Amino acid sequence: MIRFENVTKRYRGTSKPALSGVDFEVQRGEFVFLVGASGSGKSSCLRLILREDVPTAGRVAVLGRDLRSLANRKVPYFRRHIGSVFQDFRLLPSKTVYQNVAFTLQVTGSSRGFIQQAVPEALALVGLDGKQKRMPHELSGGEQQRVAIARALVNRPQVLLADEPTGNLDPATSVDIMQLLARINAGGTTVLMATHEAGFVDQMQRRVIELRDGEMVRDEVHGGYGDTSNIPRLVPEQVRGAAAAAALTAVQEVQRQTADLSSVRAALAEELSMQRKAAAAESGSAAVTDAPQTVEPPESPSVPEPETVADVVEPPVVEPPAVVEPPTAVEPPAVVRPRTHPITLPTVDVAELGVADRLGLSDEDDEEVGPTS
Ligand code: ADP
Ligand code: MG
Repeated sequence: MIRFENVTKRYRGTSKPALSGVDFEVQRGEFVFLVGASGSGKSSCLRLILREDVPTAGRVAVLGRDLRSLANRKVPYFRRHIGSVFQDFRLLPSKTVYQNVAFTLQVTGSSRGFIQQAVPEALALVGLDGKQKRMPHELSGGEQQRVAIARALVNRPQVLLADEPTGNLDPATSVDIMQLLARINAGGTTVLMATHEAGFVDQMQRRVIELRDGEMVRDEVHGGYGDTSNIPRLVPEQVRGAAAAAALTAVQEVQRQTADLSSVRAALAEELSMQRKAAAAESGSAAVTDAPQTVEPPESPSVPEPETVADVVEPPVVEPPAVVEPPTAVEPPAVVRPRTHPITLPTVDVAELGVADRLGLSDEDDEEVGPTS
């Protein structure tokens, strides 16, 4: 459905290629994460698929069409088969929700009857029925992204490209959007999503293609985000939203309690040492020094571990949201692993299938339909 064959992309005036020898194939119906640090080439890949740009070398084929041989005048038709959403939503600010979704259909010459049926269905699919008359500025970020998704789907595309679609959203809203994308994929639409959000990638366990400096370094069928340690980040940058702040507070609390525990142990050891010295002095034996054998080191098993240790170290109270990366200093990593917003994969609702069919989300058509067919 999407094939990259040894694709290199070099932008004019740059010394290093943005993409170098990239080779992969995405099958119909797949959900694929495209991951990698900023500047690794994710958006460049998506632009090549949309034919917004062409490779310097190699071949990109989408929906059975070699994009090199696709005439410029056919590009708008070709793009009708591909929906795309972006981090910044890209809504028309002076148009209502309904008009934003209808606009694409109007531009491509759809009949009024079709538009009047398709737009409300697309809005219902993304959970925005009832907000048709709102202006974009009257919506939350998550709702604006839902409008953008409805607009991307209204043309019944076979592929949905999403370039960091949760990049401007808070963690809870991001989870909603991820669930929506998973549901759209469950309806048969192929989804290719570029993202930084390691939490989602880890949870969804879908195929992961990883880019590093324009080179493909991984293609894993049920992958996680992978090693995030070489992505430079400052703690304040990764703390986003109240939930994230709460998570960090919880981590700091665990650190504090662990530190308290150390001082309790040290005090215990000192007390023990004093008692032994006193006992030795009373029995008239030779002076006892602080020799190691008389003072139990804090880590020694003979110093009784308080029964609460396990409780203190395990984070029972606040679990951080999906997007919070563990501060690197915190151990164990398990402290921040559980997510407050687990992504549950969709069960396909029979009642929704009609809508999915209307939007071209169902998988009933097994043939790869080329953009000009
Ligand atoms: P990502 O989406 O992973 O952040 P991009 O595909 O946007 O990566 O960028 C990959 C590389 O190509 C970066 O080094 C970026 O600076 C460069 N680049 C992207 N677009 C252009 C452009 N239009 N002109 C010149 N360089 C570009
Ligand atoms: Mg990008």
